Amino acid sequence: MGNKNKEQNLDITMEKLVSLCKRRGIVYQSSEIYGGMAGAWDYGPLGVELKNNIKDYWWKEMTQLHDNIVGMDAAIMMHPKVWEASGHVDSFTDPMVDCKECNARFRSDHIDLDAACPNCGKKDSFTEPRQFNMMFSTHMGPVADSASIVYLRPETAQGIFVNFKNVVQTSRVKIPFGIAQVGKASRNEITTKNFIFRTVEFEQMEMQFFVKPGDDEEWFEYWKDSRIKYYNKLGIRKDKLKFHKHDCDELAHYAKDAFDIEYEFPMGWQELEGIHSRTDFDLSRHAEFSGKDLTYLDDQTHERFLPYVIETSAGLTRTVLMVLADAYEEQVLDGGDIRTVLHFHPELAPITVAVLPLVKKDGIKEIAQEIEKDLRADFATFYDQSGAIGRRYRRMDEVGTPYCITVDYDTKEDNTVTIRFRDSMEQERIPISSLAERIRKANKEYKR
Ligand code: ATP
Repeated sequence: MGNKNKEQNLDITMEKLVSLCKRRGIVYQSSEIYGGMAGAWDYGPLGVELKNNIKDYWWKEMTQLHDNIVGMDAAIMMHPKVWEASGHVDSFTDPMVDCKECNARFRSDHIDLDAACPNCGKKDSFTEPRQFNMMFSTHMGPVADSASIVYLRPETAQGIFVNFKNVVQTSRVKIPFGIAQVGKASRNEITTKNFIFRTVEFEQMEMQFFVKPGDDEEWFEYWKDSRIKYYNKLGIRKDKLKFHKHDCDELAHYAKDAFDIEYEFPMGWQELEGIHSRTDFDLSRHAEFSGKDLTYLDDQTHERFLPYVIETSAGLTRTVLMVLADAYEEQVLDGGDIRTVLHFHPELAPITVAVLPLVKKDGIKEIAQEIEKDLRADFATFYDQSGAIGRRYRRMDEVGTPYCITVDYDTKEDNTVTIRFRDSMEQERIPISSLAERIRKANKEYKR
């Protein structure tokens, strides 16, 4: 190690990401020992840390850093009427075709119906498109009849709308204010591919912002701006992000205006997050279907109205893929070696700091273990004493650990250690006592 890289980036592919994720315990195929299950993935020891860090970062951004947004956590299974009111029972459908030859199923808007079947190559083999409802349903209680049907929520948003009145009555929020939620959602997707991009079970990070009708356009602009700045703060490459405005024919049944934030994934530009102007569609539908008054009373002006809503809706698991894709780099080092490195923002990295003794003997190992223990309270740490130091650095680069600390014979003499920075591979000699402060400073100043 120690060679300066030539900044040559080899092409990133989905296969490389999937393979790295499997190899390093980030994401595994669901039920792999049974041959796997399409559209579902499991998060391993490092993957769950990454996912939790992304969730925490979003939560902090949306709740702690905004004095007018509160959080909540609704149940996955809700009253079936919720989904009638929301329009999901009638309209949450995708057009689907089957190949009559091989029975493969496709979204008819994702393929050319005049071309051959992408699976078996047969021409003129598709059925007529049919509308297919994407909600998973099950039955509650011992009798499986139509009265006992419940749905696994296809989005977290409705849990917020049905609690709007509860939150207004039990917390001190005043319009404009938001309610944020992170949680699982399920959709019976016809085609699941591209790893964790589109899965049948996923997690969403949604925020519904309630405003006075008429103020919605201004707040829509505010949230567009705020959400793109959030990705910039996370160090996501700016040229990989863009807005896509929905045309009239793309707008969902509830939407007045909608923009997607798109990211250039290895398979191309795709939606990462939606910012939607939902008007009072949801609250008015729930008021109608529940028979409850969901209007808001402005105690200053004494006006009563049904608020309009601006929604920011990001996929958590899709963000994991985006963060992985954005962080991934293969660098050709002097001498021809390839270094695979994940340039995670330090706040997202599953491991923040690794402590590596240069040798195991003469008390060096014990000093390193002591340092690692001391840092545990403040950072996600990892201790590794096995293998050549260069190989240990590479292992940490590959999972995006921003700082490695090496302990050597000099440490015994002067209580200093070497801290090595992942992106630049530069090293600094610093006292053990200033380690935590140095890491905090580097976290704060981090720029890719
Ligand atoms: P798409 O067009 O990709 O199907 P959508 O427009 O239906 O997405 P929304 O209903 O707006 O998506 O959901 C908001 C966010 O939830 C999306 O931007 C995406 O990040 C995430 N999301 C939606 N469906 C899935 C899925 N099947 N798997 C993973 N994430 C998803």
